[in-house]
Amino acid sequence: MKLIRDIFAEKKALGKPVVSFEFFPPKTDDGDRNLLEKQIPALLATKPDFCSVTYGAGGSTREKTLMIVDRIQREHRLTALAHLTCVNHTQAEVQALLEKFQKLGCKNILALRGDPPGGGEFKATPNGFEFSAELVKFIRDAGDFSIGVAGFPEGHIANKNGKLADWRHLQEKVEAGADFVLTQLFFDNADFFEFRDHVTKKLGVQVPIVPGIISILSAAQITRFTQLCGSKIPASLKTKLDELAKDDEAAAKFGIEYATQQCEELLRSGVPGLHFYTLNKAYSTVQVLKNLKLA
Ligand SMILES: Cc1cc2nc3c(=O)[nH]c(=O)nc-3n(C[C@H](O)[C@H](O)[C@H](O)COP(=O)(O)OP(=O)(O)OC[C@H]3O[C@@H](n4cnc5c(N)ncnc54)[C@H](O)[C@@H]3O)c2cc1C
Repeated sequence: MKLIRDIFAEKKALGKPVVSFEFFPPKTDDGDRNLLEKQIPALLATKPDFCSVTYGAGGSTREKTLMIVDRIQREHRLTALAHLTCVNHTQAEVQALLEKFQKLGCKNILALRGDPPGGGEFKATPNGFEFSAELVKFIRDAGDFSIGVAGFPEGHIANKNGKLADWRHLQEKVEAGADFVLTQLFFDNADFFEFRDHVTKKLGVQVPIVPGIISILSAAQITRFTQLCGSKIPASLKTKLDELAKDDEAAAKFGIEYATQQCEELLRSGVPGLHFYTLNKAYSTVQVLKNLKLA
């Protein structure tokens, strides 16, 4: 399987965007089957460049991340990116995990700090990592992995010193060895453009910065998500979602149109790729890609 930094270089040379999909490990065997046998094959028809699998706060879904990454790579022949967080991990545990990744041919890691299970303030595990930049450096020293990190166009929700302080920390992650940035979802492209201009022009970050896109599936769901991750819903979008609060089908149709328009403007601005939060459901993302003629 390829290193994702090489995928970005190849697609850049071709003048084409890198398209990636994010999944989360299902909690049940039925969920696994639905993801691996229905949703992923439907999405593969659009010929993505890679996909990523999130890492849970603890428990059995953590082991599933690597299992799903491995099955995607072996059964679907698609490069996969394993998310990994600092939550409840010592450095020795991360070292053991990295050895496992290497054995399975998993060469790509999204290095994250993660959030404490159950909320509250993050506390580093003794002999663990306090910030994701430390995890990036650790992985960089451990072997030839391609490493991605998270970026926050509106600033990270927990940074009390504001978005400029958060963006400086993004620069530190890149200096520690990150090859690319995948952003948090956002609904106002102006936020992404301000963020990208600042980190590239003022802070000199040179690695690909890929916008994270979600095609809204329902008003209630996106309200819940944005409350958790701190992304704002612009007033005009909020009005529309209020109108569609009781009609999920219409909300999903509107979500496809909104995401399509967002992506069209982002592509015109020269983004190196699009990272879709699929929520383990293929339909809306496939429609957006068809609208963009990227399927
Ligand atoms: C694309 C994407 C994928 C994600 N996938 C997952 C996942 O699979 N599992 C999961 O649990 N979570 C996931 N998250 C959520 C992420 O783990 C949380 O948002 C977490 O709170 C921040 O992670 P980080 O890697 O940005 O942390 P960090 O970069 O460590 O930053 C955390 C906070 O500390 C601040 N900070 C950083 N360095 C310093 C420093 N030196 N001094 C002081 N403050 C500092 C930052 O500004 C920020 O406020 C994902 C987020 C994104 C955008």
